[in-house]
Amino acid sequence: DMALYTLGNHTLDTQHPDMDVLTALIGDEGVDAELFHEANRVKTEEFGSKVFVRGIIEFSNYCRCTCAYCGISAQMVHAKRYRMPPDELTDAAVRAAETYRTVILQSGEDRFYTAEMLADIVRRIKQRANCAVTLSIGERTLEEYRLMREAGADRFLLKHETANAVLYESLHGVPLETRLDAQRRIRALGFELGGGFMVGLPGQTDETLAQDLMTLVYEGVEMAGIGPFIAHPDTELGGAPDGDPHKTLKVLALARLLLPKCHLPSTTALNVKGGMKNALLCGADVIMQKATPFEYRKLYDIYPGRDALEVPLEEQYETLRKRLAEFGLSAE
Ligand code: SAM
Repeated sequence: DMALYTLGNHTLDTQHPDMDVLTALIGDEGVDAELFHEANRVKTEEFGSKVFVRGIIEFSNYCRCTCAYCGISAQMVHAKRYRMPPDELTDAAVRAAETYRTVILQSGEDRFYTAEMLADIVRRIKQRANCAVTLSIGERTLEEYRLMREAGADRFLLKHETANAVLYESLHGVPLETRLDAQRRIRALGFELGGGFMVGLPGQTDETLAQDLMTLVYEGVEMAGIGPFIAHPDTELGGAPDGDPHKTLKVLALARLLLPKCHLPSTTALNVKGGMKNALLCGADVIMQKATPFEYRKLYDIYPGRDALEVPLEEQYETLRKRLAEFGLSAE
């Protein structure tokens, strides 16, 4: 049975995943080579040599949330804030769609943009460009999400961040259920849901990570961003160690076995840690490239080390395409 994996002395039944087995696998370094090999095999079976490349526009860094790890949280009073006017955002997205088949619109939780405004932006992009539109703008009501969905938004990224309810509440000041409920509203409207979580948050254990993986399964995500926590010096977690890129790859590989058809990006945070090639050989099938207008890139400072290079989109894509070809992969 293809759903059954023997890794070291562990047996993982991906149809009925067991928390203890997942926890043990995450902690056992002896299984790494086999695990990565299997994850790459499953990814290749599902997607061949294809890597899906998306363009992301970070259109506002205003945020009402107080996430303890994030460099653009409302608590970062010294952060210089920007927000793109709707017309400028629409034009930038249409331009990005000349290079990328999917354009992701991401921001802090910025209520300046009403649901009507966001719906209008999506509608205009879809009229002018032939691309999928993904939103990543945080929690809204069902009615707000509905307007965006009806305007043609295809997908929505909203990570659960950590499945440990106590840890979630200590980092966000609101219960985990708030986040999971928002994910359910998104699913209910027929968006493709992108979930995900961070690896290496202070206080997280291997058991937490197993719970995180189970949450992806329960929430029925079609995409999952799994990336290392990277400490931002100005936040209250500024002194904490960064998440381990190797552990992140292990968890990513396990996600591939549990969710063979799920889109798994080599997250920006993992790329910062030099892991793009590794991630693409350990189960990831998606790369996101910046399509944010140059003047704003440095200001979207959620964690340190993100590249703010001013490379034109075509050239950026071409460079990636060549790099992927070097390891036998083709950009889609
Ligand atoms: N506000 C939207 C939301 O919360 O979904 C989208 C923007 S938010 C900045 C995007 C993602 O950044 C979050 O889901 C979180 O996982 C990630 N992030 C924020 N701070 C981070 C850090 N210090 N290290 C790694 N990832 C971080």
